[in-house]
Amino acid sequence: MKPLKDFLKEERLILHCGGTGPELIKRGGVVPGALSCLLYPDLVRDIQREYVEVGATLIQACTFGMNPIYAKMHIPDYDWEEINRRGVALAKESAGGKAYVLANIGPTGLMLEPFGPLTPADAEESFAAQIRILLECGVDGFSIQTFYSLEELAAAVRAVRRYSDLPVIASVVLNPNGATLMGETLEQAYETLMPLGIESLGHNCGDISAERLAELMAPLAASAEIPLIACPNAGVPRVVEGKAVYDMTPEEFASGIAILKSCGIRILGGCCGTDRHHIAAAAKVLFQD
Ligand SMILES: [Zn+2]
Repeated sequence: MKPLKDFLKEERLILHCGGTGPELIKRGGVVPGALSCLLYPDLVRDIQREYVEVGATLIQACTFGMNPIYAKMHIPDYDWEEINRRGVALAKESAGGKAYVLANIGPTGLMLEPFGPLTPADAEESFAAQIRILLECGVDGFSIQTFYSLEELAAAVRAVRRYSDLPVIASVVLNPNGATLMGETLEQAYETLMPLGIESLGHNCGDISAERLAELMAPLAASAEIPLIACPNAGVPRVVEGKAVYDMTPEEFASGIAILKSCGIRILGGCCGTDRHHIAAAAKVLFQD
C-alpha cells in the first residue's frame, strides 16, 4: 500500500468505514465503545473486518475518547493507555493490509472556557498523551472526529503535529443550521485548520440529512485544496427501551451518499447506526454507479 498521504491525494473516491459504537452495543458491547477493545475484542474485530470485506479502505481503531481527561471521567478503573494499544492492534489485524488504520481521536467530553473548565492547553496535553501512545503502535493516520468545538479540534490537530506529519482527517459535527454546536462553520474550520496541517476536513455523526449536508459542504468541496469527508449517521434514532434504534435502510443511506458524491465529497462512509450493509450499499454508489 502506498503512503496514506498519497492515497488521500490521488484516489478520486475513497470508502470510509461505518459506525462502531452503536453497532457494538447492538452486539453486546459496552459504553464507551473503546472499552470493548479490552472486554469484547472479538466484537470490535468482527465489525471492522466486515467493513474491510465490503471495501472500506479507511478503518478506525476503536480508540474514541481514550484521552486521559475523558477516560478518567468515564472509566476510571481501566487502563486507558492499554485500551489505545489494544485498539490499534485490533484494527491492524482487521485491516489485514487491505485498509489503512486511522487512530480515532474524540473530544475530551469537557467544554472549553468560558462555557466549561477546560483550557485549550489542557485539552492539547490530554490529546498529546493519547497521540504519543497511538504513534508508538504504528497507525497510518489520525481521524479527529465528532467534535462540537473547532477550538478543541484545533487543539487535537496541534497535538498530532507536535510529534508527527502523518495525515489528519478532521471532522466536526454540523447541525442543520450550518454550524457546529459552538457556532462555527465548515469554512471557518478550513481557515483555522489548514495552517495547522490537515489532509481532509468534513463532517461526521449528527442529526442532519445528507441533502442538507451536501448543500452545506458543496461550496467548500468546489474550492478546497484537500478532499472533503462525510460520514453521516443512518438517520435520526428512535429510543426503544433505552437503546438508540436507527431505521434508515442501506438503500436510503446509499441515496444520501450519492448526493454527497455528486457535490464533490471524495471520502464517504458512515457513523452511528450504519453497519456493513450500509457501507456495502455506499460502495456500490462510489465504485459501480
Ligand atoms: Zn456517530
